[in-house]
Amino acid sequence: MSNWSADLRGDHPPDWVNPAFRKGPGPVDFGFTPDAVLPNGLGRTGVIRTPHGEIRTPAFVAVGTKATVKAVLPEHVQGLGAQAVLANAYHLYLQPGSDIVDAAGGLGAFMNWPGPTFTDSGGFQVMSLGVGFKKVLAMDTSRVSDDDVIAEGKTRLARVDDDGVTFTSHLDGSQHRFTPEASLRIQHELGADIMFAFDECTTLFNTRDYQELSVSRTHAWAGRCLRAHRELALARKHRPYQALFGVVQGAQFEDLRRRAARDLADLEVEGYSFDGYGIGGALEKQNLGTIVGWVSEELPFHKPRHLLGISEPDDFFAAIEMGADTFDCVSPSRVARNAAVYSRTGRFNVNTAAHRRAFVPIDEECDCYTCAHYTRAYLHHLFKAKEMLAATLATIHNERFIVRLVDDIRASMQAGEFFAFKDEFLGRYYESREP
Ligand SMILES: [Zn+2]
Repeated sequence: MSNWSADLRGDHPPDWVNPAFRKGPGPVDFGFTPDAVLPNGLGRTGVIRTPHGEIRTPAFVAVGTKATVKAVLPEHVQGLGAQAVLANAYHLYLQPGSDIVDAAGGLGAFMNWPGPTFTDSGGFQVMSLGVGFKKVLAMDTSRVSDDDVIAEGKTRLARVDDDGVTFTSHLDGSQHRFTPEASLRIQHELGADIMFAFDECTTLFNTRDYQELSVSRTHAWAGRCLRAHRELALARKHRPYQALFGVVQGAQFEDLRRRAARDLADLEVEGYSFDGYGIGGALEKQNLGTIVGWVSEELPFHKPRHLLGISEPDDFFAAIEMGADTFDCVSPSRVARNAAVYSRTGRFNVNTAAHRRAFVPIDEECDCYTCAHYTRAYLHHLFKAKEMLAATLATIHNERFIVRLVDDIRASMQAGEFFAFKDEFLGRYYESREP
């Protein structure tokens, strides 16, 4: 093991390591302290404390689905300012197996990530197997309603009942079953600082009747998750405390969302309640801020709120304004691998002929490693030549762009300049035209 790698994990972090990673003495319990609050009383900055360090919110969490942020080293992920990494329980359960991650000392130790970690419950993955799920839909769904929607050309690989979900592995076709208890056992073995309750994921295409049934089912599962969480936490006292977030469903219906949030906020099982909340389910882009606002109004102010799966700049402003604290999304790294890069003047494709002789950075204002050392022309060449470094450099840039955007939003809130920054940033991003 080389010295620099040991240093990053050990007691002497180099200066460029995010200060949030510097551990204090003694055990650190989970907690959240809000500070600056927007005039609407919902949007806020704050600090989440975990056993593996602090997260200053609002914050974008890098996605490392299979215990790796694809194409980049954990040192890169630290260097671009990401404060936490989120991995996926479904993928790690199938491969390599959550028992192996447990034996390695948990997700962070296994992947050489010293900071805070999240795992999602696996619910979205098992329930969307073979089904045309998309997180944010920029379309009118008011005239579409179907409880059994399946993407064209796909077969349904998962079946939901009141006890859990039976699904077929995308790797080898084997049959598996997730229940609230199974998801919590897997997530305790994975050992992330923040876990999510196992919930039913519906689509915007489901009927109102089905959404009601689903919210009741998710609430019943939430109680089972808390009970399983308590038993596992007591049995595994040798491990650092893992926080559990309940997930608010209810699709686009105000009464369902508010009721789901209130019921989860009130839920307590033998002294255990949720440490924070996830805002789940598909969202229509035009309603995103409104829905986050309904939920934030019902949830306790002193617990953090995570919004799953958004990556567009206007969505961050809308969600943060209405009270969301942390975010994750695979999109910045996924689109990077397809040569789509963000800039202050909009997203563009560095693969197009316009960039063949562009000896300028992706974004002149970006402070990332890629923009400091490489040109659009070089990235254009790497993508055309199908070189692996293309994915690495583009991922570093895109992840930095989104992490920095959310960091800049946090700074603007602390300075009392949120609305001015929002107008300026979104004006340039959506009204400029890149080549
Ligand atoms: Zn950059």
